[in-house]
Amino acid sequence: MKHIVVTIDGPAGTGKSTVAREVAKKLGFVYLDTGALYRAAAVAIDDSGCKTSNEQDCVRVLSRATINFADEHVFLNGLDVTQRIRSQRISSLASEIAVHPSVRNALLDLQRSFRGKSSLVAEGRDTGSVVFPDADIKIYLDASQEERARRRYEELISKGFAVSYDQVLNDLRERDSRDSSRATAPLVIPQHAIVVDTTHLSIENVVRIVLDKVRRYLAD
Ligand code: C5P
Repeated sequence: MKHIVVTIDGPAGTGKSTVAREVAKKLGFVYLDTGALYRAAAVAIDDSGCKTSNEQDCVRVLSRATINFADEHVFLNGLDVTQRIRSQRISSLASEIAVHPSVRNALLDLQRSFRGKSSLVAEGRDTGSVVFPDADIKIYLDASQEERARRRYEELISKGFAVSYDQVLNDLRERDSRDSSRATAPLVIPQHAIVVDTTHLSIENVVRIVLDKVRRYLAD
């Protein structure tokens, strides 16, 4: 059977990760969380003491770093950073390093290496536009900023991070604006993408919509 690629892009808090993970599990596809990769890269740069604004330093640090995924855990140079990458600080740093073209380029091969072994569900900001422009199915999830901030706030609280809703909303606004306005691989609706507004939808409903699209595609 042909291995297919499904991409799910959209801003923070649209439920991309949960939906992509669930769809991959239900279909037996590999799941790739590209945001986790940018986050692990941000941890490497943070630990090195380099400034996120210095593109050359960021790339130098990344050329020496090893990032792996195993059993839904993320490892940086062999250390499990799964919990650490979810902090607000790392969310902001990840979007700061993600503006640099050479940082994006350094992370491209690793993302593309997930293709081919099995069918793939990849999620992020540019998976349908840049990483896998020839993906079989492209989904773009969206939701209002307030609803996305509310979801992110509840997720962070449930993971034990001490944050306020206003702080989460402000960080999200900053991140949205940086992710959408950067010159290289900005957050865009990829060509031919199916757009789903999740503001009033449960995760189960969004999973059902995406599963339906993939199953129809496979049946054709
Ligand atoms: O999706 P997540 O919130 O984990 O992503 C963290 C940050 O990584 C985003 O705000 C974005 O700046 C960056 N990112 C990106 N391209 C991707 C995935 C994430 O620029 N494909």
